[in-house]
Amino acid sequence: MANFVIVGAGECGARAAFALRDKGFDGTITLIGSETHLPYERPPLSKDALIAGAGPKLVADAERYAEARIDVLIGKTVSEIDRTRRRIVLSDGTALPYDKLLLATGARPRVLPGTAHGGRIAALRSHDDAARIRAHLVEGSHIAILGGGFIGLELAASARKLGATVTLVEGLPRVLSRGVPAEIAAIVAERHAAEGVEILCGAKVAGVEDLPGEVRIALEDGRVVSANLLVVGIGAAPNTELAEAAGLAVENGIAVDGMLRTSDPDIFAAGDCTSYPLPLYGERRIRLESWRNAQEQGQLAAANMLGGAEAHAAVPWFWSDQYDMTLQIAGLADGAVTTVRRDMGEGAFILFHLDAEGRLIAASGIGPGNAVARDIRLAEMLIAARIHPDPAELAAPETKLKKLLAA
Ligand code: FAD
Repeated sequence: MANFVIVGAGECGARAAFALRDKGFDGTITLIGSETHLPYERPPLSKDALIAGAGPKLVADAERYAEARIDVLIGKTVSEIDRTRRRIVLSDGTALPYDKLLLATGARPRVLPGTAHGGRIAALRSHDDAARIRAHLVEGSHIAILGGGFIGLELAASARKLGATVTLVEGLPRVLSRGVPAEIAAIVAERHAAEGVEILCGAKVAGVEDLPGEVRIALEDGRVVSANLLVVGIGAAPNTELAEAAGLAVENGIAVDGMLRTSDPDIFAAGDCTSYPLPLYGERRIRLESWRNAQEQGQLAAANMLGGAEAHAAVPWFWSDQYDMTLQIAGLADGAVTTVRRDMGEGAFILFHLDAEGRLIAASGIGPGNAVARDIRLAEMLIAARIHPDPAELAAPETKLKKLLAA
């Protein structure tokens, strides 16, 4: 009987395990994860679950794994891949053979040089991180957040909802400078300011002191932010060490081809830990940190581990919730030369991004609740169809995007 092993019991690994069974695989499936929880969703960690102080939102409960005959080893870390003997070794010395192996090891928060996570310095990646941060999110508490990316901003919104004072320090001139148009980032920043978040942009950190009663963040311009807790949200680094030690190709993530195969034909990789070529953008190699990508790649890896030969072609998609606003981004906008705005009422709008040939390559939207969801979904389909739309039609709210798709 074939043994399939999945390293990393997160969104991607769990989805891959179930997909293997759904696709008829009858051998053994072992899903191994370092964390002590069954696989859970990370997006709520900075949003509703953080506010509610809720337990992890599991991808599936223990019964479903048992029904699907998936052996989940939690609290176990894989320390070595022995490619010659086709087995993995756990940090306790146990070895497990594999016929096919999937690496879904995710990413971990970057650490601010000169500091360590612990004491009054935290990062937000896991349920345990969220529980630790949650203990500080009370009225009268002052939270400093380093990094104006999605996680830092979502955390700021949740912290304000719980009554904590928030100072957000961003080294660049604006928040959300990675992948979000300035027009949308400005709206997000204004909303945070209106909710009482102090945002310091262009503020470089000179040093951090983790003291018994406070954490002090000294800025290069001489200002000092004193807080009860500093949460560092300066991005995540892919967990590639296992792959690297095993001699697999690594390039800003475990390098896979379009079918999610590593440089070893029996080893696949998927999710946040992976970089892959995207045909829609000229085979450019990208690495996404996105919930839907982790799900889709988990499912695709399963299909290809079973002998399929399908390439990953999905349009990158990401969302973020802050207060009552939802921001959604489809595609990659960095090759855009033209941007067209489509207003949708109630302050909601979508920016369509076109390249030099007039091809639609990305769409970024913001609005209350689900206001932009439907049109972003249609924009995804238009991007996938590589259409060259008339910018005036895109801008006109009365033009149905479905009509452009049909055309
Ligand atoms: P992970 O979820 O990181 O799982 C990998 C697992 O592998 C981890 O549990 C890790 O401990 C384990 N592991 C690593 N190495 C080993 C080893 N050697 N042995 C055993 N186990 C190992 N995305 C969105 O699209 N929208 C959002 O709003 C959004 N919000 C987010 C909010 C937060 C706070 C965070 C942290 C992420 C958010 N994301 C969001 C991103 C999304 O959650 C990730 O893209 C997704 O979780 C990636 O899944 P993954 O399975 O690839 O990796």
